[in-house]
Amino acid sequence: MIIISKFIFNKILKNYTGITLFPFIILKYDKNDKSVQPYEVVANHERIHLRQQLETLVVFFYPMYLIFYTINRFKGMKHYEAYRNIPFERESYVYESDLNYLKNRKFWNWRQFILTPKDGVISSR
Ligand SMILES: [Zn+2]
Repeated sequence: MIIISKFIFNKILKNYTGITLFPFIILKYDKNDKSVQPYEVVANHERIHLRQQLETLVVFFYPMYLIFYTINRFKGMKHYEAYRNIPFERESYVYESDLNYLKNRKFWNWRQFILTPKDGVISSR
């Protein structure tokens, strides 16, 4: 279920354009707003999170998200870097532009995106 709310992103989550809190996807911009990335890409990014949340039974998603983030911080990453390298975010960012991705995606595919030493850390916006 998609909800559009400028308020949340203007007042609380200032650097974000979308957030997924199962079963809701909350987006800053609607279909008609041309000011940022294409709506479909942002919506797809959040739909991938929705799928990840379903397959971690929702309740495990948030603690896991936080644990991955914390591990990244312990590795010395700054906030944005640590966020961007959470496996759930890595998967969503890689496939957000592929609007057919969720049709063929394998179960628990986010596991492929757990950082290994050979992976480059994503650090740029
Ligand atoms: Zn995300």
